[in-house]
Amino acid sequence: MKRLAILGSTGSIGTQALEVVAANKDIFEVEVLSGHSNTKLLIEQAKQFEPNAVVVTNEEKYEEVKSALSLLPIKVFSGSTSLDEVVQWDSVDIVLAAIVGFAGLSSTLAAIDAGKTIALANKETLVVAGELVMKRAAEKGVNIIPVDSEHSALFQCLVGENPVDIEKIILTASGGPFIGRKTNYLVNVKASHALQHPNWDMGAKITIDSATLMNKGLEMIEAKWLFGLRNEQIDVVVHPQSIIHSIVQFIDGSQKAQMGLPDMKLPIQYALAYPKRISNNFKRLSFKDYPKLTFEEPDYKTFRNLALAKDAMYKGGNTPCVMNAANEIAVQAFLQNKVSFIEISDVIEKTMGHIAYVEQPDLEEYEHSDKEARLFATELVKKSQLAS
Ligand code: NDP
Ligand code: MG
Repeated sequence: MKRLAILGSTGSIGTQALEVVAANKDIFEVEVLSGHSNTKLLIEQAKQFEPNAVVVTNEEKYEEVKSALSLLPIKVFSGSTSLDEVVQWDSVDIVLAAIVGFAGLSSTLAAIDAGKTIALANKETLVVAGELVMKRAAEKGVNIIPVDSEHSALFQCLVGENPVDIEKIILTASGGPFIGRKTNYLVNVKASHALQHPNWDMGAKITIDSATLMNKGLEMIEAKWLFGLRNEQIDVVVHPQSIIHSIVQFIDGSQKAQMGLPDMKLPIQYALAYPKRISNNFKRLSFKDYPKLTFEEPDYKTFRNLALAKDAMYKGGNTPCVMNAANEIAVQAFLQNKVSFIEISDVIEKTMGHIAYVEQPDLEEYEHSDKEARLFATELVKKSQLAS
């Protein structure tokens, strides 16, 4: 049995992971669940899966969860510090890091420090502090298995290969709901529209990141650290059908791709079961349904977030951390109709230009940069015409 800590169990990845667990009770056991605000679902999940511990990171929700589970043999904790402790328990084998945003960094690092295998969905962790995270994982001999579909694809293509034989990787991007659109269209789009992703059903933050193409920018940086690549080895191609999940090109020119229907349960299951594969009844890809797979260059000019993220990757240091923080603030503001779609990029660009550069940040400096960037970005949001 593999004993799992599912962090962010109430989210899109978390709930799909629990579907995988429910279908494979002979392989997986839930040891820890964590949620933040969706107490109703967290309580329901705890009753169904009877983990040893539940952590509600939002401390205001502790009493509610505690009393709802009082008759069950489940320990209830609250706050992010508790989460950092619980992930280190001996009874945990694998930690699925599926909290969204910078908030997922601390628990992932705690799990690495305790030598746990990490199934990593939280890409922001590697965007913010990839060098530090991968260094610690290497020191502890910890495996980080990607859950993000593109990185799972690359990981699967690299099984049995020597990483020094990678010439480059090509991340595929769906292009999101606004593919082919220009700035004159984007100025008017609203959150409700941007939340409608053509191929994937995901949490709100990543869905907006997909619409702005920031998601692909974050994924470039995620790939850099996961696979130890140089910036020049990372490419993006727009592939609207989302059937090819990414491609590795080797030094002999051979390309390997991983394909399948867009369904996150597959990369989640792969990461949790690795190095085994588990049979399932997920719908299979039929070429009859996809007679044409197409590819095009990304539009860096219109989708400025992709260019900004690429720029942050090249600059390195604390720049990706600053960019990520500004993006989190701007996306939240866009979801609340406080900035326009176009202004998301303005907030990020200005914040990146404002926060002092640190070349080799330690964890404290990352936390400091994150905080500073959030404060500055929040001030910029207040200046938007929509905010008043
Ligand atoms: P969701 O928004 O659906 O879920 C986020 C989870 O994190 C929820 O359980 C939420 O709790 C919890 N959470 C939110 N804020 C905090 C906080 N401050 N502290 C602790 N926990 C918190 O996101 P997704 O599942 O879509 O995404 C999770 C991560 O996986 C992201 O980093 C995303 O980029 C990545 N990812 C997601 C994919 C997808 O298909 N969804 C694909 C590839 C990567 P609650 O809801 O109870 O408040
Ligand atoms: Mg992805």
